[in-house]
Parts: sequence; structure tokens; C-alpha cells
Amino acid sequence: MVIKTITSYLNDFTHLFFPHNCEGCGTDVLENETMLCAACLLKLPETGFINMADNPVEKIFYGRIKVEAAGSAFYFNKDSLLQHLIVDLKYHSNKNPGFYLGKLLGYKLAQSARFNAVDAIIPLPLNKRKEKKRGYNQAAVIAEGITEVWQKPVLKNSVERMIFTETQTHKDRVSRWQTMKDVFNVSDKYSIENKHILLIDDIVTTGATLEACGAKILEASGTKLSIVTVAYTI
Ligand SMILES: [Zn+2]
Repeated sequence: MVIKTITSYLNDFTHLFFPHNCEGCGTDVLENETMLCAACLLKLPETGFINMADNPVEKIFYGRIKVEAAGSAFYFNKDSLLQHLIVDLKYHSNKNPGFYLGKLLGYKLAQSARFNAVDAIIPLPLNKRKEKKRGYNQAAVIAEGITEVWQKPVLKNSVERMIFTETQTHKDRVSRWQTMKDVFNVSDKYSIENKHILLIDDIVTTGATLEACGAKILEASGTKLSIVTVAYTI
């Protein structure tokens, strides 16, 4: 009870100096590390895919790479609150939405039996130049949020993304796929061997990049792959 009181006091105290409002409606949010009020949180368009077998995100990868389970937490609509949060994360140097959305995703993963067998999380890597420019990899920030509520280790240095210079337009389909795949490199194969890896990113659209990175992960001995993103867009 005493601890609770002190915590509340500290929350209020911090709030005085770092007041923040709901990102959705602007109402005053009292709890720290919360970005949305309960009403705005309820308005985020849930897909239900995390708990659903053969969902549309899983179907993206059918016949392309072997995926144990896949899913996204929310539908991504233009001019939506979710878009606002993701734009803030990717283009306005604000990590908070990534961490917050990661936690929301983490709760869903923790509650779903479909992802129980996952051993470790790998955020889809950015190339070093892009990461330096942005200051961080948004997928890695989301992974930090996930692991805060769903205690799975995050492997940040197992896979890297090379800087891509070659033009792909003159290549045939097979060598284009080879080039795409070779954008990713497993730099520490021992860290992923015989593990079930959950590859994560902010949004899935065509799935081409996740597929390329996932294919590299599956080349390591004994690996299994699942894929999850915060948002899904057609
Ligand atoms: Zn709100």
C-alpha cells in the first residue's frame, strides 16, 4: 500500500514535469508510459490474426517460405491514429510509439498459444546507413516493447542488412530473388541454430523483405521461423 502510494506520487510528480496527453484525442493521460487513453486504445482496429490460423498474413507467405505462424495486431489505414504513431516512430525520431506498440503486441503474443514455441525474437534489420540516419531501427524498438511483457530474448546482432547498390531491373526473376536474399546476412549463425525465430517488423505489405530475411534465417541449421508485425496493410 505504501509502495503503491509512493509510485502514484512519483507518477504524479513526473507528470508535473513531463505532462503528456493522449496521442489520439489529446485528453490528459496520467499514467506514465501510456500513449493512448482507454477509449482511443479501444479504437485501434484489431485484426485478431495473432490467434487465428491461416490468417491473411500467413497466406502472404504460402508457397514462398515455410512459416510456423504469422500475424499482425492491427489493420493499417491511411490517416488513422495507428499511422500517426508509426510515422512518429519512423520519421520523427520518436521511439515511444514503437515501444508502446511493441508492448501491445507483446501482450497479444503472450496470450496466444500459437507462438509458445518461439525461442528468440529478431527485429528485421535496417542497413547501417539508414539506422545511423534514423538513430535507431524501429523494428528493434518494437522488439524491446515486446520483450518487456513477453520475456523472450531479442537477438540484435545475428542478422545484418547490407547496403544495397546494384540495380535489379536487368536481372531475371531467379537472380533478382538471389540478390534480394543476399541483402541479408546471418552474421552469427550459432546464435540462431536449432531455434524457433520470431522475425518482427512494423508493417507487412507484400512481405517481400520479410520473406528475404526469413529465407536467410531458414538456411541456418535447424531453424524454424514465425513472422509478426504491428500492422497489416493490403
Ligand atoms: Zn484518447
